[in-house]
Amino acid sequence: MQTADYLKILKDEIHSAVFATIDENGLPDARVIDIMLVDSSSLYFITAKGKGFYRQLMVQKFVAISGMTEGKHSLDKKAVSVRGKIRNIGNEKLEEVFAENPYMNEIYPSVESRNALEVFQMYEGQGEYFDLSVKPIYRETFYLGGNHDSHTNIHGFYITESCNQCGKCFSECPQSCIDVTERTVSINQAHCLHCGRCYEICPNKAILKRG
Ligand code: SF4
Ligand code: SF4
Repeated sequence: MQTADYLKILKDEIHSAVFATIDENGLPDARVIDIMLVDSSSLYFITAKGKGFYRQLMVQKFVAISGMTEGKHSLDKKAVSVRGKIRNIGNEKLEEVFAENPYMNEIYPSVESRNALEVFQMYEGQGEYFDLSVKPIYRETFYLGGNHDSHTNIHGFYITESCNQCGKCFSECPQSCIDVTERTVSINQAHCLHCGRCYEICPNKAILKRG
């Protein structure tokens, strides 16, 4: 799948996601906000100018977003997280936001009341898709915008040349996603939980953390 597909899941299947910023005291602050619009490489949300969230966005110009599709438990769900740079685009696209999300007309019924709102665009960032509904689990990293270096956040583990192919990591990996059949043992990153069990138990300290 492409970035546009993951953004579409975020808007259409998740829609209301947790947005994290830092408050005035340097502490984490989070709230649920709707993803109003997406295009091939960015997403849009709104907030009112009177809110603390608005002030934090204007100062920090960065936000982290995380949400899950509905389901009875984790095995029914897909999660999408993105973190990246945002910009205020004023009332540009506000009409489109209301046209695409008609329920907003009940919250802000008059055109005058909508003057309290402004639109933000996340235009550059990194995302992570995580699907627990398939076996083995599936994960993929994707990017918004062009400049990936400024916000890349690398996770996970990799196997170095110190490996002697003992196979211990494979036997303890909860997703069996370590290939010990080749001369060079490797982790299939698309199915890795990032749990760190292999890293803990490798007798040769051949597994390292990425990033
Ligand atoms: S446990 Fe360590 S040494 Fe053994 S196969 Fe895995 S990475 Fe290689
Ligand atoms: S981090 Fe966990 S899931 Fe990933 S390869 Fe190691 S043991 Fe397997």
